Amino acid sequence: MGKITVIGLGPGSMDEMTPKALRAIEEAEVVAGYTPYIKLIEPLLKNKEIIGTGMMQEVERCRLAVECAAGGRNTAMVSSGDSGVYGMAGLVLEIAGQYEPDKRPEVVIVAGLSAVNAVASVLGAPLMHDFAIISLSDRLTPWELIKKRAALAAQGDFVIALYNPKSKSRVKHIDEIHDILLQYKSPETPVGIVKSASRPDEQKILSNLRDFNREDIDMFSMVIIGNSRTYIKDGWMITPRGYRL
Ligand code: SAH
Repeated sequence: MGKITVIGLGPGSMDEMTPKALRAIEEAEVVAGYTPYIKLIEPLLKNKEIIGTGMMQEVERCRLAVECAAGGRNTAMVSSGDSGVYGMAGLVLEIAGQYEPDKRPEVVIVAGLSAVNAVASVLGAPLMHDFAIISLSDRLTPWELIKKRAALAAQGDFVIALYNPKSKSRVKHIDEIHDILLQYKSPETPVGIVKSASRPDEQKILSNLRDFNREDIDMFSMVIIGNSRTYIKDGWMITPRGYRL
């Protein structure tokens, strides 16, 4: 029986991949993943078999990878960031779980630095207190539920990090979320936008909930909205933990 290792590659540069992730890729005979992520690690892939496909074929890609591992080959499935945050870890476990126990490959999950961590470090320290992560992608989640989660997180005064804030087919979702957040959070609440954290075209924008420009946001961006105590000073977004100074 082979092994499938699900690996988070980190947010964008090879520098932010963990040594454990690097080692797991080196040891693999077969590497599966969304083609742009495969490209990112190309220098590590000499003499390996590659299963790289387009964005809409996650289930098929995972099935192939799990099958490969069940057939006895050491297989790696790579995702960006952390594989357990809107990545492939859950799908691999679900698919492996469909195999009879005696035919099921071993599954190992290697943690990665999620985009939210890289984005927070670019902005300063916005996640020092309780925070909620919400993806605005309604491809697999009903939009009504996403809106409800945003409203409740805002009522709970959580710092909110928005993954997948926009795509070519979802340009208005961020506007609807903006309206919802304004019902519960002050218009002065700091907002940080980071595009392509840890990549050569990294960009950082600081604003507030009333004024932030939704045009600045694309599918490579993350938006972090502060809690009621978050502030911006000297170009840093800071959520106080509560220490007395
Ligand atoms: N598994 C990944 C998330 C995949 S969802 C992780 O743990 O990070 C894809 C979304 O993540 C993008 O739409 C964007 O909102 C965010 N994202 C991924 N990489 C990013 C980066 N380098 N900078 C800013 N946001 C990023």
